[in-house]
Amino acid sequence: MSQQESAPVPPTGLYVNPVGQRRADFQHACAALFDGLRVADGAEQAAAMLAQGPSAVLVLDLERFELGIDLPALGELVASRNGAPVLVLCPFTNARWLPALMQHGPLDYVIGPLPADETRRQVEARLQAGFEAPLEPTAAEAELAALLAVRTEAQAALQEADDGIRFAERLCAALLRWPGLVHAAVFGLHEGGDLRLDAQHGKPGLDLAAVLQRRERLLQSPLRHAFPGLLAASSGEAALLDALDKAGEPALAAVLREQGVQMVLGLPIPAPGPGAPRGALCLLFDHARPFSRAQLTACDDLAQLAAFGLRMADLMRESEELLGRVTHLATTDALTNVANRRHGEYLMEQEIKRARRYRLPLALIAFDIDRFRAINDSFGHPVGDMALRVVADTARSLLRSSDVLVRSGGEEFQVIAPHTSAIDGLKMAEKLRAAIEAAEIPGCDHVTVSLGVAQLGETESGDSLAVRVNAALARAKRAGRNCVELAMQ
Ligand code: GH3
Ligand code: MG
Ligand code: MG
Repeated sequence: MSQQESAPVPPTGLYVNPVGQRRADFQHACAALFDGLRVADGAEQAAAMLAQGPSAVLVLDLERFELGIDLPALGELVASRNGAPVLVLCPFTNARWLPALMQHGPLDYVIGPLPADETRRQVEARLQAGFEAPLEPTAAEAELAALLAVRTEAQAALQEADDGIRFAERLCAALLRWPGLVHAAVFGLHEGGDLRLDAQHGKPGLDLAAVLQRRERLLQSPLRHAFPGLLAASSGEAALLDALDKAGEPALAAVLREQGVQMVLGLPIPAPGPGAPRGALCLLFDHARPFSRAQLTACDDLAQLAAFGLRMADLMRESEELLGRVTHLATTDALTNVANRRHGEYLMEQEIKRARRYRLPLALIAFDIDRFRAINDSFGHPVGDMALRVVADTARSLLRSSDVLVRSGGEEFQVIAPHTSAIDGLKMAEKLRAAIEAAEIPGCDHVTVSLGVAQLGETESGDSLAVRVNAALARAKRAGRNCVELAMQ
């Protein structure tokens, strides 16, 4: 598009870059080339300025913009030009910007960095040439640009790879940039060989779960030999249905056609090892046409990328599960399944800090099974172990979710009770005493416990609280056992 036939009047200009010094430098070097040069620090400011009054030429200097962050807004800015001249100054280190921005509209570009006088010369040359519209891209160029944009977006989806489903959703959204693609889906293989529709994106009215009449156990679907997404997931080979009737399922073909789908491609997502694929990508197109080599290579890349993302998600989940198991082992007493002593000490410190911060009462109850040695001696160690489990279970069933039960020693336990005063602690201890006395223990008589109760003093340490509560417990033993004593201040 020609700006002016002969250009006696220079055009108006708008220069966009986030760095103040660069804006000043550009103004210094090039302002004389324009009939008024405005500057903006980003897409938002530029859009606001263009809304106030148009600029004949937009100069987008990409230095210091971040592709991952700024592309959508800058792309919109390019699109808003509707073909009016855009000159992009692109750093040579990040030429990926060019195909990504060209998706949004025609533009001319200069690769940087350039010294100021060369920038001026390049801009001037373009102004004099009147910004001839760049040649319309050939079909092959357009296709390549589109595939690059798909790949850029798909790679960005890897940021979500800590969660397999979120990654799959983001990948589907990225795939939709593919020209002619109207719907993308990810089928994923889950535990027990269950193939599920993990994510889909595209035409609002098009729900593959409805088309396939199920969302799970898809390998048992009657359409598994006909629908390319399922075929690819079961056979491990790409499946391309370039005419819907070839599948021999007229009902399926009719449903897809109704949704404007003419071609379906299923791509297996390879598993990390031998065996069945990890799933499949399923791509639905609104017209049938032969794939170019570039497209087929891109398909392979995308399936590999999907495999990589899903593997990352699997590893992340496995390592979280492992961490959970290790944490459980490290903090829990194996016999009674309550917090072990070390973890109890940690939790006590946390609760003390919280109680102080919010000025809330905190009680500690310590209890010890009475004459437990005799239980072991009379009925044997396994029965003693059973008694310990019954005592722990009985106590746990009485506690609030905020209370913590700790096995502090062989047959000694503690209850850390937040928001609890000495009086409430005494009531709680009495309830524990009565319930444990009443509990049935398979293989032996009932057991009793002696208990001490203490409330944390205003400036008291955890150690001092433990000493006081144990002293109270010792008094309960001396007082004849099966009773509760309150600690002295
Ligand atoms: P008291 O009323 O004074 O507390 O008398 P007691 O017999 O309970 O006190 P003592 O401390 O003398 O004995 C505690 C017993 O607890 C001794 C030990 O064998 C037993 N014990 C500690 N841990 C376990 C365990 O994990 N399993 C079993 N079965 N017994 C344990
Ligand atoms: Mg004891
Ligand atoms: Mg003891």
